[in-house]
This record gives sequence, structure tokens and C-alpha cells, in this order.
Amino acid sequence: MLIQGGYVVTPGGVLYADVAIAGGRIQKVGPALGPERGTQVVDARGLVVMPGIIDAHTHFELHSRGTVTADDFRQGSISAACGGVTTFIDFADAEAGLSFTQAADRRRQQAEGRSAIDFSLHLSLNDAPAEKAGELAELVQYGISSLKVFTTYRKEGYMLKPGQMEFLLQESRRLGALVQVHAEDNGLVESLTERHLAEGKTEPRYHPVSRPNEAERKAIAAVIQQAEKTQAPVYFVHISTEEGLAEIKQAQARGMKVWAETCPQYLLLDQSLYEEPQAQRFILTPPLREKKDNAALWQGLVDGVLATVATDHCAFSLMQKGQATSFVDTLPGLPGVETLLPLLYSEGVGKERFGLERLVELLSTNPARIFGLYPRKGALLPGSDADLVLFDPEREVTLTASALHSAAGYTPYEGFRVRGYPVMTILRGQLISQEGSFVGEDGAGRFIPARATTR
Ligand SMILES: [Zn+2]
Repeated sequence: MLIQGGYVVTPGGVLYADVAIAGGRIQKVGPALGPERGTQVVDARGLVVMPGIIDAHTHFELHSRGTVTADDFRQGSISAACGGVTTFIDFADAEAGLSFTQAADRRRQQAEGRSAIDFSLHLSLNDAPAEKAGELAELVQYGISSLKVFTTYRKEGYMLKPGQMEFLLQESRRLGALVQVHAEDNGLVESLTERHLAEGKTEPRYHPVSRPNEAERKAIAAVIQQAEKTQAPVYFVHISTEEGLAEIKQAQARGMKVWAETCPQYLLLDQSLYEEPQAQRFILTPPLREKKDNAALWQGLVDGVLATVATDHCAFSLMQKGQATSFVDTLPGLPGVETLLPLLYSEGVGKERFGLERLVELLSTNPARIFGLYPRKGALLPGSDADLVLFDPEREVTLTASALHSAAGYTPYEGFRVRGYPVMTILRGQLISQEGSFVGEDGAGRFIPARATTR
């Protein structure tokens, strides 16, 4: 296949060039590569050609509170493909009675044969005693090198057991793995939630005040202190607040290896939505914040404090969300994998906050590097997997759930107008989506083992 005459975003800059693909890999990027006989030529004139998007934070087929998300691996990955995403990183949960690797392998098998795009996995764990050091080493050998922990959700059983963070950070550093943290201070969240419920304040507007900015800031500060002590790198998922971001910025200024992610919802939506009739659909954790937080996070993308944008795609249907009796028992999460690229292009590049190269760093290169998939993924380099998005920077689209592929049945961005939309997605040299339709194969996605990296 030869992709001819596009604006190609490479690690060396944006070039007007052709991309030659053979055997599922990038063969060459350069000007006027004449097609060989029998080559399929794709006309990319007027289009931007970038590496496939990597969504480093999805929850497809998530079993939670006695139900399962509307998007299983098949549907979620189809939605991803139509939005220019060629790799997602989902989560395996550690399970009692299984080793870390066995639990991860079980999750991998759920996705294999169903996912239409490539994927990798993080392992979520709530218990990391010293006896598990061998299991951690085995897991890294297996190809999972990021470990997710929660500083909250004690009652639900997700919170890491007290006193285990330093061990986990130390072991991760030694193994070339990376601890990633959902940072909200449990004490603050629990006490505020209980107080609001006791006062009968159960409506969605009490969700953000039960999980305030200070909860995020406090948890980040505590984890950073432990990371500093152990000299371990750390990654924070879904940063939502100006205050949390400021803690991260200070740590980076002291020379610490701290990476942070935010999500489109924390850049583009705010807590005024909790006053609207459709408030319930916007319940997620951390909650939506204020406009000043949106602005601070955009600045964090511009000045480099934030390394990645991922979606935390977690699609419950409106019917599933509607079963709730309060903000606490509302199934949390938003769909978003399909709208990641168009929203970030339109609001980031289109509004001249940053350029194309920074967009590609945030959505592809950095997640690949941080999670051990680079240079197989995350760049258009000779030898890399031929995962590409052809993107029409002029196409204007009004986002609407009926044109998207999530089974959630809604998009939080209903009615948003974007300028710029993916028109073709290519996975390892195969066309998998075109003009908003999925044209790939169910189950064509492969598990991509993450390499341990000395960070
Ligand atoms: Zn998540």
C-alpha cells in the first residue's frame, strides 16, 4: 500500500510525503515514492497522515456492581477504530486465587478474537504484599508493565491496602514497571459523601462537592512524597483539577519522573452540567470540575506538564445509569473513545493551542513510550506497525450519538461541532474504517506486550 501526498506527522516534523507499507509495517516515509506494480495507492492529498491513536485508558466489557458496560471488546474497539484509534490499553483486575499473570491472561483471552484493534493491558491491584514480588516479576515478563492502584474506593474494595504503596513503587522501579494512580483522598471523599447522604442530598449536584478538588490534590501530594522517597516514576490517570496539576508541576520541577494524563471531559465539560435535567449521565469519577480547571488543564497540555490525553471510556447505557437512586450508586463513566481525536484536534490544533506534532505526542507517541509500546506503536518510522489515521482537517461534523458506534446510546458531546475528522483508519496495513464506517474484521486485534522500560 502507498499513501500518497499527505501531510505526514513524523518524529522529525510534518512532511509532505508518501508512506510505503509492506507486510503490515511502515517501509519508508519520503517524498514521491513511486508505487511498485500491484501496490494499492491511497490518495491522501489534503489529508493529514498520523500514527494511529493510542487510547491508554479504556474500560471495555467492564464488570461492575452486578452489571457489565454496554461496550464489550467488539463494540468498543469498533467505536475506537471509527475514531482513528488503533490501540487501546484496558485493565485486567487481580483476582483472588489467581496469580497476577493468570488474571491478566484471563482478561487478554476475553479481548482476543473479539477486539478489532490492537490492545495492551494494565493490571489493577488492591493488594501488593512483599510475597507478591515474584508475581510482579512474572507479570512484567508476560508483557504487562503498568500497575494501577486506587487511593480511594475503600468500601468497594479497590483501594490499595495501607502501607503497600512504597513496596509497589520500589518493586516497579526495580522491574522497569510503572505504577499508575487514581488519586482521590479516601478520607475526604468518604466523609463528605456520607455527610451529604445523611442530609438527604442525593442529587447529581452533590457528586462534585463530595469529591472536591482538594481530594485530588491531597492524594497526588501524598503519592508524590512516596515516589520521591523511593525514587520511582509514577503516572497519574485522569487529572481533573488545577490544584492536582500544580502538585505535579512542582514535582517535575524538582526533577521527578511524574507523568500525568487528562481526558477530553475534563477539558471540555464542567460541573454546571450537574444542574441540568440530564445530569445523571455525566456522573463519573473524578467528577467534572469548573471552567478554571478546564483552562488550567489546557495550559498543562500546552506547557508539557500533562503527557497524555486518554478517554477513560466506560460506557454504561442511559438505562443502566437510570437504575440509580443517588449520585453514589449511579454507574460512573462516559463513552469517549471515538471522539478523542476529533475533539482534541478541533479544540487543540484548530483553536491554535498547540500544533499537529504536539497532538500526535499526546495521543500516540507519549502513551506508546510511557507504556512500553514504542517504537512498534506511536510513530511513523520504518519498521513500526503500519497503524495510521488519515484525517481531513477541513471536514465539519456535528457530533451526535446516532452517528457514533458506542452502545451507550449517548455521547457527552451531543451537538458539539468539530472541524477535522478521521476519514480512514489503517491497522497493520489493513483498512479498518472508512468515512465513519467500520470495514475491518472482528477479532483482528492482537495483544501487544508492553516492554519493561527503565524510566
Ligand atoms: Zn478508569
